[in-house]
Amino acid sequence: MSEEFIPVTKPFVPNRDVLNSYMDAIWEREWFTNNGPVLQEYEEALKSNLQLENLYVVGNGTIAIQIAIKALKLQGEIITTPFSYVATTSSIVWEGSTPVFVDIDDTLNIDPTKIEKAITENTVAILATHCFGNACDINAIEKIAEKHNLRVIYDAAHCFGTKYNGKSIFGFGDISTVSLHATKLVHSIEGGLIVSKDESIHERVRFLRNFGHNGPESFSGVGINGKNSELHAAVGLTVLGELDSILASRKEQTEYYNHLLQSAAFERPRILEECEPNYSYYPVIFNSEEQTLKTLQALADHNILARRYFHPSLNTLDYVDHTEMPYAQRVSSSILCLPIYHSLTKENQEKVAKIVLDSLS
Ligand SMILES: *Cc1c(COP(=O)(O)O)cnc(C)c1O
Repeated sequence: MSEEFIPVTKPFVPNRDVLNSYMDAIWEREWFTNNGPVLQEYEEALKSNLQLENLYVVGNGTIAIQIAIKALKLQGEIITTPFSYVATTSSIVWEGSTPVFVDIDDTLNIDPTKIEKAITENTVAILATHCFGNACDINAIEKIAEKHNLRVIYDAAHCFGTKYNGKSIFGFGDISTVSLHATKLVHSIEGGLIVSKDESIHERVRFLRNFGHNGPESFSGVGINGKNSELHAAVGLTVLGELDSILASRKEQTEYYNHLLQSAAFERPRILEECEPNYSYYPVIFNSEEQTLKTLQALADHNILARRYFHPSLNTLDYVDHTEMPYAQRVSSSILCLPIYHSLTKENQEKVAKIVLDSLS
C-alpha cells in the first residue's frame, strides 16, 4: 500500500459555514463581479488588517505586476532578481521592457551592493522579489533608487503577514504587488493586490484594472480587465478571518523543523533584523546539486513531494539575455522547499525530517 501523500503545499481550506453566508448573500443579490459589495468589503478588510490605504484587489499576482509596470509608465531596463517565480521576469518582458539581472546574496534576495554597477542611462526601475516571505534590504534599495531617480516595485507575492520595521511590508516601494493564489499563505483561490505608495499612482491603477473606465461611457487611457469576482472575494474574506491562526501554525511548524533538523548539513536563508517573516516556505540549501537530487528522490520514494523552488534561475530563460549569476545559479541548483502548510501534522514533519537526515548521512 502506498504511503500517505505529503505535498510541498496545500491550500488553506476556508470554513464552509462562513463562506456560505457570503455566498447566500451573493446569490440573493445576483451580483457576481464588477466591484460588488463583497469585493469592496474585502478591500476594506485588507486595508484595515494591513493598515494601508492605497490598495486594490486584482485578478491575480501576475496581472498585478503588469499593471504596476504600466501604472509607473516604465519603459527601458528594469533591474531585477534571477531568483523568483517566472512571473517576475516574464511580466517585464510582456510589458516591453528589458530585465537586467543582479545576483542575490544569502538572504536569497537581490544583493543591494551589486545594483549600482548594473545601472545604465536606460535603467528606469528596480523590480525585486521578497523571496519566501523574507524582506529585501529595503533601506539600501530605497537609497539607491533615490540617488539614481529610479522607481521601485516589490513582488511581494510570498509576503502576506511579513513585517518590515514593524509595519506591513506591502507599504514599501512605489508599488508592492501580492499574489492571492491558492498556494500562497493567504489566498482567494485566484487573486492579487496592488498597493501603491501615493494617491496618484493608486488612481492610475484604478483605471488600468478596469478597462480605463472613468464613467460608464468614458475612458481615461488604455486599460485591461484586472478585476476580481464576488466569489473570490468571499473566499478571500473567509481566509483572512483565519489569518492569525495561519501565521501561528507556520511559525510553529518552522520552529519544529528547525528543531528536528538542527544537525542537518544545509544552509537556510539569512533573515534581516528589520524583518519579521511569515514563514510561508521552508527552503533548505544543500552543498551540491547531487545531494539535492538524492534528498528529493528519497522523499519521493516515500510519496513526499518537495519542490525545487526556484529552478531554473531566471537569467537562463531563453527569452532573456544570458548573464552569469553565480550565486543564484548555485542556490537554484541546490535548493529544496520542504512541505509546509496549515494542516501539516507534527508526525508528518517528523517523517519528512527523518528522511532528509537519513539522505544526508
Ligand atoms: C505566485 C507568484 C507570482 C504570480 O502570482 P499569480 O497570482 O499566480 O499570478 C508572482 N511572483 C511570485 C514570486 C510568485 O511566487
